[in-house]
Amino acid sequence: MNRRRYDAIVIGAGMAGLTAGSLLARRGWKVLLLEKESQAGGYVVSFQRGDYTFDATGAFIGGCEEGGQFHEILKEIGAHEAIEFIPVRQIRNIYPGFEVSLETGGFSSYAHALGALFPEEEKGLREYLALVERIGNEVKSYSDITLVRKILFPFFFRNLIRYHRTAHQAVLDRLFRGGEIKMALHTLPATDPPSRLSFLFVATLISKALMEGVFYPRGGMGRVPEAIGHCLLNSGGEILLRTGVDRILIRNGKAEGVVTKNGEVFESPLIISGINPNHLTGMLPREYRGSLTSKMDQYEYSLSCFILYAATDLNLRKMGLPYFTYLRSLSDLEEEYRMMQRGEVPQNPTLILSIPTLLDRSLAPKGKHLLKVLAMVPYHYRDGWGRGNPEDYRRIKEEFSQTILQQLDSKIIPGLKNHLLFHEAATPLTLERYTGNEQGAMYGLASTPGQFGNGRPSHQTVVPGLFQAGHYTRPSHGIVGAALSGLFAARAILRK
Ligand SMILES: Cc1cc2nc3c(=O)[nH]c(=O)nc-3n(C[C@H](O)[C@H](O)[C@H](O)COP(=O)(O)OP(=O)(O)OC[C@H]3O[C@@H](n4cnc5c(N)ncnc54)[C@H](O)[C@@H]3O)c2cc1C
Repeated sequence: MNRRRYDAIVIGAGMAGLTAGSLLARRGWKVLLLEKESQAGGYVVSFQRGDYTFDATGAFIGGCEEGGQFHEILKEIGAHEAIEFIPVRQIRNIYPGFEVSLETGGFSSYAHALGALFPEEEKGLREYLALVERIGNEVKSYSDITLVRKILFPFFFRNLIRYHRTAHQAVLDRLFRGGEIKMALHTLPATDPPSRLSFLFVATLISKALMEGVFYPRGGMGRVPEAIGHCLLNSGGEILLRTGVDRILIRNGKAEGVVTKNGEVFESPLIISGINPNHLTGMLPREYRGSLTSKMDQYEYSLSCFILYAATDLNLRKMGLPYFTYLRSLSDLEEEYRMMQRGEVPQNPTLILSIPTLLDRSLAPKGKHLLKVLAMVPYHYRDGWGRGNPEDYRRIKEEFSQTILQQLDSKIIPGLKNHLLFHEAATPLTLERYTGNEQGAMYGLASTPGQFGNGRPSHQTVVPGLFQAGHYTRPSHGIVGAALSGLFAARAILRK
């Protein structure tokens, strides 16, 4: 059998695997990155349909400018000059009976937009944003914690301690009276309702988005993994695409290498997994599975989503549409989540629309615009989207696509249905199939109070030499969260 030896083997070229691999390669390590698909990026990929370049999933990335967290990670990798980031400035959130237009630009403009709409909540809003800012600062200094701060932890990190088991709901209920402002403040990239979402997660996210802004990479989301992948290769690392890992080899209780689906063996005393931990567990010899499985059984996962990709010849710029629109028709967020748990979706599902061609004209031919629409949906909707019967699957997918198009046409883009040039969709089964995420989970583990930061699995596993990164691990989900997990895993390895 052909065996090759490396200093480190990374499984999965998502943002986490790419970050960890490229950082180790940059330090001169001989790194091999194995990816089961035909391109690197995991959820963060672009794909072509004729002249159209679509992003498979995400709409924006936080902190891409000098001083921002993602910029710093890219700089450490050496990829910061390879990508041009376009700031996302216009966001329109539509709720039942009211709407908010947000201009990104720090705490004051956010407070101003919400304050103008809810003057009676001014005091609560001021207190909320001040708390968010304090927590943001504590989280920032926690990532570069000094010995003095470690010793005096309760003094320097009093809010992290005070709120570490608090859900967003508790803070919203304490500071606000009206349901509308609570709904507006819970418009976040997470699938959990206020009663389940960690307030520390919310505060970290809002403070970062407001302080560091959100961005779109010119050329599409796929530019990001492409640039990081190049850095890995330039540092002497190797990437093997279409190479799924099947088993982890362990000798004398320590990681020793991997066996791929087509039987190739690659050896290394250090393996970093960037994939669904339940799949990782299945790759281990039976005697090692128990300790990992028992823990994973206790965790809760984020929900999945349906994605519609479409093209139109309507002049969306002239129609005044912003890059990003959030449309919510159901006011009860808790009921929406309960419906999802029952395998149902609301008649008018919440939609998240992005129009990347408003930021980057190169993604489609002149005069055409691309739309990507996300709707949070359950994995078990209508017998698992007609799983097992291709005809049922296609029919359910098309029916759901039409529900979305109808909503877009009637509430956001009048005339769209008559000007539709193309549409295609992805379901939770698509997300699961391409990335291996648990039931197509958008964000890995749910960010509940018990599953944020140190409440998530650590990077070191029970098997010496086997590490893990990705949005199931610390610190949290999202493109930056996954990249940070890769950075933390690489640092933990380098420390050893
Ligand atoms: C629809 C959607 C929209 C989103 N929008 C945003 C957004 O706008 N902004 C944001 O910050 N975040 C967004 N996210 C979340 C973000 O994309 C993820 O949290 C993050 O990209 C996860 O990265 P990861 O490296 O942990 O895992 P993944 O992206 O899941 O990558 C795992 C990789 O491992 C590979 N793999 C799996 N099994 C094997 C195997 N056996 N052998 C080899 N390779 C294997 C997979 O093919 C995949 O490439 C969104 C997610 C979704 C689904």
